[in-house]
Amino acid sequence: MLTGKIAVVTGAGRGIGREIALTLAAHGAAVVVNYNGSKTAAQAVAEEIIQKGGAAEAIQCDVSDFAACEAFAKTVLETYKRVDILVNNAGITRDNLIMRMSEADYDQVLDTNLKGAFHMIRHFSRSFLKQRSGKIINISSVSGVAGNPGQSNYSASKAGLIGLTKSVARELASRNVQVNAVAPGFIDTDMTRDLTEAARAELSRQIPMGKTGTAKQVADAVLFLAGEGSDYITGQVLCVDGGMCM
Ligand code: NDP
Repeated sequence: MLTGKIAVVTGAGRGIGREIALTLAAHGAAVVVNYNGSKTAAQAVAEEIIQKGGAAEAIQCDVSDFAACEAFAKTVLETYKRVDILVNNAGITRDNLIMRMSEADYDQVLDTNLKGAFHMIRHFSRSFLKQRSGKIINISSVSGVAGNPGQSNYSASKAGLIGLTKSVARELASRNVQVNAVAPGFIDTDMTRDLTEAARAELSRQIPMGKTGTAKQVADAVLFLAGEGSDYITGQVLCVDGGMCM
């Protein structure tokens, strides 16, 4: 159980982040539901948690903005005094072949997916160090583990997240803060909904289990890494991918 724990989940108004927020709350954590543009959706997630007897609050912050993340962390720490679980889930895609990839699309994906996690860890790290306990979980991707054509920006950001995870895991290990990554495979959310049937079929052929995953299956892996069952696990990448990356 996560009773008494304070969790921050970035990009928690929709998709995988929403499911992570609901799952952590269902196991007793008070959840800060971060969003960027999806205010109504994020507020609905917080309300759903509260209606079920939990505690939650939706707070806007663009994770790609260093100063905004600093202000966000300050607000959260002033209100809750501590953060026990930080889930860096916010992410975007701007897919294109490398020949056609614009600098803006490259930068935007790196700024959101990789620097966004850096910003949050950077601004919450003092608090984690002081309390001498905590869990940081970064949502990477199989694209970051194995690469994917048309996703050089996204793959680089997700591979970077794995390096960030391992370095911060080493920095914080002696203070009893565990830092791990979850690498989802092909999960049904808004991010993957636009794929053609042909692209879906081709992707499914690459999955040993032969089917796509659900946001709930990713959230359950996050739940494990957020709880005491993972107290001796740090710097790891847990693939939730139906066997794609084995
Ligand atoms: P969605 O597109 O459904 O949701 C993306 C989320 O990220 C939204 O909640 C969005 O918030 C948030 N977000 C985007 N930019 C920002 C920003 N600048 N600041 C704060 N929040 C932001 O994606 P998924 O739920 O599918 O993906 C969640 C994570 O899982 C991502 O990191 C993604 O890369 C990763 N992933 C997904 C896979 C999949 O198959 N779906 C596979 C592997 C990894 P808002 O709407 O408020 O802007």
